[in-house]
Amino acid sequence: DPILELRDVSKRYPIDDSWLARLRGRDRYTNAVDDVSLAVDRGETLGIVGESGAGKSTVIDLVTGLESATTGEVVVDGETLGTVDDRSRDQLAAIGRLFQHPQSSLDPRQRVRTAIDEPLLEAGWERDRRRERISALLSLVGLDDRHADRRPHQLSGGQCQRIALARAIALEPALVVLDEPTAALDVSVRAQVCNLLLDLQAGLDCAFVLVSHDLGVVRHLADRIAVMRDGQVVESGAAERLCTDP
Ligand code: ADP
Ligand code: ADP
Repeated sequence: DPILELRDVSKRYPIDDSWLARLRGRDRYTNAVDDVSLAVDRGETLGIVGESGAGKSTVIDLVTGLESATTGEVVVDGETLGTVDDRSRDQLAAIGRLFQHPQSSLDPRQRVRTAIDEPLLEAGWERDRRRERISALLSLVGLDDRHADRRPHQLSGGQCQRIALARAIALEPALVVLDEPTAALDVSVRAQVCNLLLDLQAGLDCAFVLVSHDLGVVRHLADRIAVMRDGQVVESGAAERLCTDP
């Protein structure tokens, strides 16, 4: 069974800008996501591409439960997803999310150790097990215990993204959502983080969803690609085919 499934999912937002409402006549809603169906299996990475406004962020918000669908169903690991507010602890732990900006994932005042510890603590892990897990996670993302006592401003952008990733995968989520994971990084660091993500794909038993403007990153990491336009998936298929034949 797929880890992630979107079944005929639509998300409508009311258009609040009056000029936009006038421009569109009586259409006072926008279909940010319009009847989208997708499935992602364990061990698979789905890349979602499309121009700004195509609906990519909204799909991610629906998949992570930040927004709820107007119609249709989002199923993660066999369970229909509720919004963040009414989800169980297990459901929250089932999804890891990496944002574009490390500052969105990391609290600037928090030491690295505390940032990674937080989800483990919330999941009720006891102290020794947490300490071991933190070390293992740091090494998994190419860092070590020396970084554990630093705060985000004492780390590079790439290191911050590694920490954010360690936090996102701390509870071995079934699904990892990567939202423009390399966009905020220097070109030189981009390849490193990209390679780290490749390693994690091979090592983690989960499904990935990747949204990126960078076709190089998508080609590198995605097995399949869904192209979105105006809220719909207008094309989908194997990454090799869509990337070589645009
Ligand atoms: P991206 O860089 O992914 O294209 P956007 O700039 O489209 O991001 O959107 C950033 C955030 O603003 C998203 O969380 C999205 O839901 C929200 N957003 C986008 N358009 C609107 C809008 N017209 N009204 C309110 N919020 C919006
Ligand atoms: P993308 O991430 O591909 O840039 P988004 O999902 O941010 O696209 O936006 C898709 C469409 O939905 C856009 O027209 C955007 O303005 C609209 N939209 C997104 N979020 C909101 C929101 N919170 N309120 C109103 N409109 C929104």
